[in-house]
Amino acid sequence: MIYKIQTTKPQQFIEITDKVAEELKNSNVRDGIAVIFVPHTTAGVTINEYADPDVVRDIISVLDKTFPVHGEYRHLEGNSHAHIKASLMGSSCTVIIQDGKLCLGTWQGIYFCEFDGPRKRKFYVKIIAG
Ligand code: ZN
Repeated sequence: MIYKIQTTKPQQFIEITDKVAEELKNSNVRDGIAVIFVPHTTAGVTINEYADPDVVRDIISVLDKTFPVHGEYRHLEGNSHAHIKASLMGSSCTVIIQDGKLCLGTWQGIYFCEFDGPRKRKFYVKIIAG
């Protein structure tokens, strides 16, 4: 299924674990994999801690220090930093499904990663039995 999302900040992580879990529930799949795919070049997806929101704030902060918005880049659109960050996070994540549940660790959440917002975005969730 395709999900539409409106990001509200230039750079932000939005937790989408609930959407993936809901998609899994609706699928009735007990064992398999969930694939989350982001079809953008300046946004990505990653899995990391959700319990302490400072973790994702720190990730954004360190990425921004390492790849500043106004760095020395050649890409004329002026958003090279966002392309680089998106590639580092990646455009897809896979989570194993066992007994009808996502096999995420206790503190893991799935995050849509915006690096060139705010924008209208989308991501795909595919539940595959196997
Ligand atoms: Zn660009």
